[in-house]
Amino acid sequence: MLVTETPAAAFGQASRQLGRILIVEDEELIRDTISLALQEEGYEVIVAVDGRQALDLINAKVLSVSAADGAALDLIILDLMLPYINGLDLCRFVRREGGTIPILMLSAKGSEIDRVVGLEVGADDYLTKPFGMRELIARCRALLRRQRSSSLALDAPVLKFRDISLYPQECRVVVRDQEANLSPKEFRMLELFMSYPRRVWPREQLLDKIWGSDFIGDSKTVDVHIRWLREKIERDPSHPEYLLTVRGFGYRFG
Ligand code: CA
Repeated sequence: MLVTETPAAAFGQASRQLGRILIVEDEELIRDTISLALQEEGYEVIVAVDGRQALDLINAKVLSVSAADGAALDLIILDLMLPYINGLDLCRFVRREGGTIPILMLSAKGSEIDRVVGLEVGADDYLTKPFGMRELIARCRALLRRQRSSSLALDAPVLKFRDISLYPQECRVVVRDQEANLSPKEFRMLELFMSYPRRVWPREQLLDKIWGSDFIGDSKTVDVHIRWLREKIERDPSHPEYLLTVRGFGYRFG
C-alpha cells in the first residue's frame, strides 16, 4: 500500500527510474568520488572493487534470467586495469554472453590503442583519467538515453505472415487462431525468419544468430530445431508451406 511506503523506498524508486549504475573501480578515491557524484544526480549506485566482484554482480544482475525482474542494471562504468580480471575481459564477457547493457570504460592513460581495443571488445564509450565529474555524468546520461531510445525501438511491431502472428513483446505466437507453444530458441528463430520473409538463411548464419558465434556444435542442431518449429507452425510438417528448405543453401520463410 502506498501509505506505508517509507521515504527511503520512495527515493529508491525514483532513482531506479533514472538508472542503476555499477561502478567497477579498484582505486578507492576515484570510486567514492564517482559514486557520490552519481548519487547526487539521483542515480542508484552499486560498486565493485575488483574484477571478481564485478563478474559476480554482472552474472547476477545483468546476465541472469532473474535480472529482468527489477534487479537489473542500466549501465556499467568499468575501469580498465583491475585486480583479478581486467576491464577488457569483463567487457568481452558481457558481450559474448549477449548482454547489451551500455558500458563506459575508464582508463588511466589515453593511448589510442586502449580506446580502439576498448571499443572493439564492445564498450560503448571511453573516458580517460583524469576526468571531471560533469564530463562523466554527461557521458552516463547520453548512454542511458541512447539505451532507452533503442529499447523503445525494440517495441517491435507484431509480425504477421498469412495466418501466423508473432508478438515480440509478449513472446507469443498465434498460429491459425491457436496459441503455439514455442521454446525460446524456436521463438527467436521464427522471429528472425518473419522479420526477413523470403530471405535465405544458411545454417551457419542461423547458428550464429540464434546460438551465438561461440556455440560449439554442428549445423544439425539447426535442422533439428527447424523440424520442431515446423511441427508447431505447419499444417503438414512433412510438406511445409512456411518454413522452406532451399536445397544447398539453407532455409527460408515464405
Ligand atoms: Ca584501476
